[in-house]
Amino acid sequence: MGGMDKLMADLDGRPLLAWTVAAMAAAAAVRRVILVTSPERAGSLAGEAWLRGLDTTIVPGGERRQDSVAAGVSVTDGEVVLVHDGARPFVSPRLVDAVAAAAAEHGAAVPVLPVVDSLKRVAGGRIAASADRTDLFRAGTPQGARRNLLVAACLELAGGATVFTDEAELLARYGAQVATVPGEAAALKITDPADLEVARALAESRAGRPRLGTGRDSHPFGPADGLRLAGVDIPEAPRLLGHSDGDAAVHAVCDALLAAVGLGDLGRLFPAGDPATRGIDSRTLLAEVVDRVAGLGWRPASLDLTILGARPRLGGARLERMREALSALLGLPPERVSVQAASGNLAGEEGAGRVISATALVSVVAR
Ligand code: MG
Repeated sequence: MGGMDKLMADLDGRPLLAWTVAAMAAAAAVRRVILVTSPERAGSLAGEAWLRGLDTTIVPGGERRQDSVAAGVSVTDGEVVLVHDGARPFVSPRLVDAVAAAAAEHGAAVPVLPVVDSLKRVAGGRIAASADRTDLFRAGTPQGARRNLLVAACLELAGGATVFTDEAELLARYGAQVATVPGEAAALKITDPADLEVARALAESRAGRPRLGTGRDSHPFGPADGLRLAGVDIPEAPRLLGHSDGDAAVHAVCDALLAAVGLGDLGRLFPAGDPATRGIDSRTLLAEVVDRVAGLGWRPASLDLTILGARPRLGGARLERMREALSALLGLPPERVSVQAASGNLAGEEGAGRVISATALVSVVAR
């Protein structure tokens, strides 16, 4: 797997990197998360929905790990800096805090785990010798150091030809003593597709049981053109009437999310008649709802939306645009979002083309 592609792989409905950032941000010792990524991905990363509301800084990295670390460290200002692999999404806040405390006390610290397998030297397909594992440990991340120490080590060594596999090696070469803290087996590094399978199972068990919510909304057509439906503009179709932009589909999604977490409905959150929300883009309302849901410790995990109306015709291309718009707003991969349409078969207000209705079923899981 390529570095950034791997980090954007879906783990229970959100990218692996989103899990990692959320885990780091949850630690008491972490004041700010700095994401160091390839220069070509830095721009697109900033637009990711799951980054909304998090205090993060995105920094273009370099060729080697040490170049990226040097770039990241240069924008830090804390007393202690922690360097964490984006591919270790299940690090616990407890481990992050333990490394930060040890780094503050000793100057530098890394988490280590004993090697549990027997170690062999192999030559020509046969065991040549057994190796003693008693003083061998696997180093994980986050690796922490007092900022002034890591800055000095990077300045002296990171730009050179020697390649360091981690910060502990860089710091030790600089002459620092690096303390150890007990690591966590669950903070595994996802390196190949088989690891991702293990991670998916862990992610599902961590997220716990989902909660469900349904929402339904209807709006009549008004006299003006410029329909907005499910977050997509269809300029040639008539606009729906409403206090906001009339997007009944997005309103149904909002209501479903609010219902899932017991927050009431959209009308209670944004009363119709409030001049501040007159004509408002309903996508703004949905972003606010997702933030409120997050504030209670939940995140969207799936959406099933059905739109009912005789006009305009909602073919595959329009439904696909709606699916893309809603998945971006919810911070979900498109395969977690379903958007269907039905004409109403000439029945009722919808079938007569006077109204568009929408029904949404969402699930949310713990963040
Ligand atoms: Mg409405």
